[in-house]
Amino acid sequence: MTNEVIPNLTAFDEAALGQAFATLERQARDAASALGSPEAVEAFRLHWLGRKQGLLNEVSSRWLKAAPPEAKKALGQRFNALKSAVEALLDAASGAGPSDAALAAEAIDITLPGSRRLTGAEHPITKTLNEIVSVFAALGYSVGVGPEVETDFYNFECMNFPPGHPARDTQDTLVVANQDRRPQRDRLLLRTHTSPVQMRTMEQQAPPVRIVIPGKVHRNDATDATHSPIFHQVEGLCVDTNITFSDLKGTLDHAMKALFGSSVKTRFFPSFFPFTEPSADVQISCIFCGGKGCRKCKHSGWIELLGCGMVDPAVFAFAKEKQPAYDPKKISGFAFGMGVERIAMMKYGISEIGQFYAGDMRFLGQFA
Ligand SMILES: [Zn+2]
Repeated sequence: MTNEVIPNLTAFDEAALGQAFATLERQARDAASALGSPEAVEAFRLHWLGRKQGLLNEVSSRWLKAAPPEAKKALGQRFNALKSAVEALLDAASGAGPSDAALAAEAIDITLPGSRRLTGAEHPITKTLNEIVSVFAALGYSVGVGPEVETDFYNFECMNFPPGHPARDTQDTLVVANQDRRPQRDRLLLRTHTSPVQMRTMEQQAPPVRIVIPGKVHRNDATDATHSPIFHQVEGLCVDTNITFSDLKGTLDHAMKALFGSSVKTRFFPSFFPFTEPSADVQISCIFCGGKGCRKCKHSGWIELLGCGMVDPAVFAFAKEKQPAYDPKKISGFAFGMGVERIAMMKYGISEIGQFYAGDMRFLGQFA
């Protein structure tokens, strides 16, 4: 095929050479302007620059050999100019023409260390949350979840925080704007605890109920070393006939031992929560000093860790509206709640809550 394209040169004067090379260059330009695919570009390269069958090779071997000595220099110059022109066309057609330096940079140096793809790992909050949930799952608890944007009814009213009740001040939160025309119980807010899921579960399901509710909650708390306006909770609810405070104590004592080690002791102090009566704060013996007293436990030997209590009959009264089986005269139950960040900080010796949310790989990598 190539032989047909390259005519034999019979005259080697300036005019003849000029015309012969101009014809070839025009053919190259025409062919290059029609290149539409990488395959076509490669075919163009082989057609013009191929080592054995390429047209330029043919020109060099036939014209240059046939030229009389006095014409060889002029022919050589025109040949080099044509070759440069074809190479430039090829570079333009294949995008940015790779220079020798670029090709060298692309070459693979097999002595370099490979690039390692990092495997992901659970965030310490997720890890701790899952640990807590699995302790209760082993006791037969199922997992409940619910919306983070809640109504005033589910977040406050049915949990026995009536409108205007001072306990609402302890759980201030962000409220969705422009809801003044709605009744208060329908107004939307960011939930301050996962307790709404307790009521949502009781409305759907007659007793017995045993659930844990992990999730994100929101409070109007100023950020400091141990507080964040967004944090995570795991709450639990157990409702059945004849559930007593000893069941609550036994369950939480077991859970704390499962989380922190079998030598951990628990003790219960009277407290107040609107949705439980009686209510208690739970302390565990200091996991850092074993109860002898250290800076972490403020030399008391004890660390306060969670809240709990027997479900207030007023809460059951709300559930009874949809599930008559929640009759406080026939059933009883307990509820508890713990902060996941607080437990993770204790378990891993973290002093700044903000580190959980900063996304710093040097911090997070320690838990991988
Ligand atoms: Zn201590």
